[in-house]
Amino acid sequence: MDLKEIKGIGDKTSLVLNKLNIVDAEGLVRHFPRNYDIYEEPTLIRDIDNKAVVAIDGTVVKSMDMKHVKNLTLLTTTIRDANGDFLKVTWYNMPFLRSTIKMSMRFVFRGRIKRMNHIITLEQPEIFTLAKYEEKLHVMQPVYSLTKGISNNQMAKFVKEALDKLSFDDYLSQEMREKYHQCEMEEAIKNIHFPDNFEVLKTARNRLVFDEFFTFLYRLKKLKEKEIEVPNRYIINNHDVSDKVIGNLKFALTGAQKRVLQDIFKDMQGKVVMQRLIQGDVGSGKTIVAFLAMLDMAGAGLQSALMVPTEVLANQHYESMQRLLAENGLPYEVALLTGSLGASAKKRLYEGIESGKNNIIIGTHALFQEKVVYDRLGLVVIDEQHRFGVMQRAMLQEKGVTPHTIVMSATPIPRTLAMILYADMDISVIDELPAKRLTIKNCVVTKDYRPNAYNFIEKQVKSGRQAYVICPMVEENEMLEAENVIDYATILKERFGDRIKVEYLHGKMRAEQKSEILGRFEKNEINVLVSTTVVEVGINVPNATVMMVENSERFSLASLHQLRGRVGRGEYQSYCIFVSATQKPDKLERLKILVQSNDGFYIASEDLKLRGPGDFFGVRQSGEMGFEIADILTDGKILSDAARAVDEFILSGHELIDKNMNNGIVIY
Ligand code: ADP
Ligand code: MG
Repeated sequence: MDLKEIKGIGDKTSLVLNKLNIVDAEGLVRHFPRNYDIYEEPTLIRDIDNKAVVAIDGTVVKSMDMKHVKNLTLLTTTIRDANGDFLKVTWYNMPFLRSTIKMSMRFVFRGRIKRMNHIITLEQPEIFTLAKYEEKLHVMQPVYSLTKGISNNQMAKFVKEALDKLSFDDYLSQEMREKYHQCEMEEAIKNIHFPDNFEVLKTARNRLVFDEFFTFLYRLKKLKEKEIEVPNRYIINNHDVSDKVIGNLKFALTGAQKRVLQDIFKDMQGKVVMQRLIQGDVGSGKTIVAFLAMLDMAGAGLQSALMVPTEVLANQHYESMQRLLAENGLPYEVALLTGSLGASAKKRLYEGIESGKNNIIIGTHALFQEKVVYDRLGLVVIDEQHRFGVMQRAMLQEKGVTPHTIVMSATPIPRTLAMILYADMDISVIDELPAKRLTIKNCVVTKDYRPNAYNFIEKQVKSGRQAYVICPMVEENEMLEAENVIDYATILKERFGDRIKVEYLHGKMRAEQKSEILGRFEKNEINVLVSTTVVEVGINVPNATVMMVENSERFSLASLHQLRGRVGRGEYQSYCIFVSATQKPDKLERLKILVQSNDGFYIASEDLKLRGPGDFFGVRQSGEMGFEIADILTDGKILSDAARAVDEFILSGHELIDKNMNNGIVIY
């Protein structure tokens, strides 16, 4: 259904929604809330403690003060609650409130608490009459991901409209639903947006998770049916190239790397084409294994393509591959293909790929866009595969190519689940870290530890090492108190002066800028890199020994573990400093899991134990495998249910109509 059939959506709003990848009414109702806001009974000022959001029933006791600060209009007043305690209240850029809020008026003010120099302020609160607030009490309000030009209230209104207008088919029969304790699709979609209570939400989410797994596994099955016994047209017996390269490496391969390489070699000689997952924790050395296989391909006159989820990582792999070729005097031509290339550069690359001039092609999902035609593609490697949906392989098939495939992932999932999720693949595990690695030293600290951390970083830089400082956001946002890279870098530059070169990196920078910065960091021309999580995946700068993460309470443990994987990659002692902006015991306890162990598996399982029902949407494996709401760790049971259900479904002769399932590619 066209978006414009929804009341209130015209051309302009339609375009805004497109930015969120919402193109029709169906997409709108599939834009699930990322969280829920629960309006609780008003709090007394003395009970605010360390709550982030509060509602205060208060009377205005001071006339509104209006100030202009930079380009902001700042309104300030004070309210008093029933207990006689006072609280400062501010609003930005809402000068009109001056005529609404007057002395002696009583409202419920609901907003975020800001703490600065021991003064607490209620920021940008919404204002309700007592009666209006009463209506809102205990209702779970959806909180959506938004973009400029649309408010949360508008989004909720549009979704509500769309839900009323659309009808929902259910591919699961009542019998199946009962068997797997699932509610109806329609009920699930309605309740995920507007649940009456937590139980209802849980039921709805369960069904949608089931649905995500189900459609995913269904497609996987269908793919596998088609793919069975694809003959190996690219038999590789000769390993002269990889032998030579291994001989020239500065290190010896670990036993696990050798074993996995043998698995790959065996596949490449086999009757059927290779489909192999390489699972190995961050830093276990997956890259070189893939590179060696690619080089043997090139040696046999075949092409290989390496796909990664970010341009930054594509760049880095490109550079490493170039270096490896130069060190070994190998004549192969590498191409770097990313979305941000200019049209003419792209055209030239396409030509090189089509003519077979380029043997090794490294890039983002741009590698498999329509216009790319391969000459003799023998091997596809997908790095950090959990960042993609699994369906990128379908795209390859649609191109009519069936090369050998290696996918690599650091996601620690139990073997039983891995076998369901990668039902179409053989699995090799790199379960050993390179020798000579020193165990990373970790600490969880609060903000007041920063001066020590900076001194420590300074010392490390003086002895030749480098540091990352990670912040969650790019630009200042008044409503969120998160640190942000640009401001943070400025602060560090001031603090360190000329002694230490500080730069910043974030996802919104232009591609050339990103690679320029990263290139300088690799060469140690930048000592301290202040960055968002764009460096989370794959980046390899072994000389970096400090990873400091601001607002670490905002990240999933899986992300933090990945971030930590950026250090401890060389021979030097490395350190992680997880800075928490909150002192809440439960948050700190969660972070301390990272101190207990550097093992991804352990962390994932402890994380799971600690996760309460409230963490539903908040902290989860970020978009693992391209799933939108399913979490492969917490939802393991539903995954195995869905696997059984798919088998039954197909056996009984049912078919699923492709309905734009959610397992497309996720690009970060
Ligand atoms: P990941 O598995 O996280 O992708 P990488 O492949 O990026 O890890 O390897 C991490 C670092 O370890 C790189 O600097 C790489 O050169 C190095 N490395 C890989 N294998 C070995 C080894 N056997 N011995 C020593 N260092 C190694
Ligand atoms: Mg890697």
